[in-house]
Amino acid sequence: MAHVIVVGGGAAGLSAALFTQKNGLETTVFDTDKTWLHKAHLFNYPGIGSQDGTVFLETLQRQAETFGVERVSAEVSDVSESGDGFTVTADGEDHDADYVVLATGANRDLAESLGCDFDGDLVDVDVTMETSVDGAYATGAMVRAEEWQAVISAGDGAAAALNILSTEKGENYHDFDVPADADEAFGAMADES
Ligand SMILES: Cc1cc2nc3c(=O)[nH]c(=O)nc-3n(C[C@H](O)[C@H](O)[C@H](O)COP(=O)(O)OP(=O)(O)OC[C@H]3O[C@@H](n4cnc5c(N)ncnc54)[C@H](O)[C@@H]3O)c2cc1C
Repeated sequence: MAHVIVVGGGAAGLSAALFTQKNGLETTVFDTDKTWLHKAHLFNYPGIGSQDGTVFLETLQRQAETFGVERVSAEVSDVSESGDGFTVTADGEDHDADYVVLATGANRDLAESLGCDFDGDLVDVDVTMETSVDGAYATGAMVRAEEWQAVISAGDGAAAALNILSTEKGENYHDFDVPADADEAFGAMADES
């Protein structure tokens, strides 16, 4: 099974992780919990009327964990290419990944040290959020000058995940569910939404 490592557990990172893990790829999120969501109150996230950013984050964390995402509280100090994949160093320990999704907010240091191309100050990505380094994605605030909105970051993370899934499955992939899937997939969470 391919292993995806996501660096950053805000809107972009958790969205990417939700989509990859839910669709069969083992996914680990490393995060230092400095997400801007802790400062926000969301009135503009479609489908959510009014919600404290931390409450939104906690729901997203539980949602990702429900599908099996592993969340680790640790700072990633380095991401480097190794063989066909990547080595991610967190709190002094190395971890192997087939794909890496950078979702570190406005901090672009890891993309720079990995050797990703930049367009001015921004990490240069295509519409799938893939960087110039094959298998490395950059999402959310780090790829945008000012369009810093939670829903855009979440969309970026989903786009990266679907591209990874399309690569793994060898065909264009989308994650569609129907109402009959809901009880089985969400269980107790269905009662909370
Ligand atoms: C005061 C304020 C109010 C806001 N209000 C709104 C609003 O009303 N509506 C709205 O849509 N948006 C709002 N935003 C913006 C919104 O919070 C951001 O657009 C969104 O959080 C960006 O998501 P992200 O995943 O790209 O980055 P973030 O949510 O910032 O997440 C990045 C994560 O990466 C982690 N990280 C960074 N480096 C490392 C590393 N080396 N190793 C491990 N982890 C790392 C950080 O700790 C953080 O948890 C607001 C922001 C602020 C500051």
